[in-house]
Amino acid sequence: MTLELLHKPGMAQLTSLGIGGNARVLAKVRDEAGLDELSRFVEREGSDLLAIGEGSNILAGDGELNLALVQMACERKAEAEISGTSVRVPADMRLPGLLSVLIKNGLSGMEGLAGIPGSVGGSVAMNAGSYGTDMQSSVKRVRLWTPEKGLFWKDAANLKWGYRHFSTGTDEFFLVWEVEFELAPSTEAEVRSRIKDTFDKKKATQPVTAKTAGCVFKNPEGYSAGKLLDDAGFRGRNLGGMGFSEMHANFLENKGNGTAAQALELMSQATEAVSDKFGVTLKPEVIILS
Ligand SMILES: Cc1cc2nc3c(=O)[nH]c(=O)nc-3n(C[C@H](O)[C@H](O)[C@H](O)COP(=O)(O)OP(=O)(O)OC[C@H]3O[C@@H](n4cnc5c(N)ncnc54)[C@H](O)[C@@H]3O)c2cc1C
Repeated sequence: MTLELLHKPGMAQLTSLGIGGNARVLAKVRDEAGLDELSRFVEREGSDLLAIGEGSNILAGDGELNLALVQMACERKAEAEISGTSVRVPADMRLPGLLSVLIKNGLSGMEGLAGIPGSVGGSVAMNAGSYGTDMQSSVKRVRLWTPEKGLFWKDAANLKWGYRHFSTGTDEFFLVWEVEFELAPSTEAEVRSRIKDTFDKKKATQPVTAKTAGCVFKNPEGYSAGKLLDDAGFRGRNLGGMGFSEMHANFLENKGNGTAAQALELMSQATEAVSDKFGVTLKPEVIILS
């Protein structure tokens, strides 16, 4: 079976925040041949489609979600192909796995991304970034799949990138299937040490082991969302089983039995307070599914 269908998948199991109801269906693409079946699936399901990776940037609503999810989940070990300073990986490889490959091969450029738990595909789709770098800085080209065109490569320069934003330039559903990176030569020891520094800094300032979806709001131009939330009194603010982290006010934590309703209410209170106090509008970084 190259396209596995699961009906009513639980969003709590598919996301790092661990909350939410059920989607309509989840299509897991098990290999490249599964993409033919995926074309027929996309035709059948219509427009409520969403690609999902590790679910580490998703806040799923409670109850029934009218969504058909598509996940690249191949049944083989995700391996990197390396040629000089260029590294090509399948999009279902996890970013920490890619960083381990870069350490072993002494390839530099992505050390600031240590601690981001998502898949390579999800990280491209979010243009994930931290500590002054992002995916765009190292991506050379992306192999996309769309129902119309199938698989094709697109150079990074011909894709649209922004702050936590990526677009293929059309509204058509797409799956990131493979990514090629261009890195700079370095040594194993140097890359390892820079990755360790980044991760140590994150461990000291962010709740890296809690159930979160990373930063909940984007940093407004010229501001830190975490500082605004802190100054507005939201650090450690709880509602039911959800709460803004004591460690970093821009991380919303599920303390065990949180719900999306509680998360969204806290986000709405925080947005209103920050707007009232500082005249700044906070925009969600998490993808909210309702
Ligand atoms: C502890 C923690 C720390 C984090 N730190 C950071 C950080 O420092 N910087 C940062 O930017 N983010 C951070 N995040 C958020 C998250 O890890 C990143 O956004 C990550 O890149 C998302 O990858 P994912 O596979 O989990 O994507 P998902 O959460 O599954 O999906 C995110 C978006 O990508 C799309 N998508 C996913 N896979 C594909 C695909 N194959 N093809 C097309 N679209 C796809 C989805 O439709 C959705 O719109 C953090 C999260 C956690 C839990």
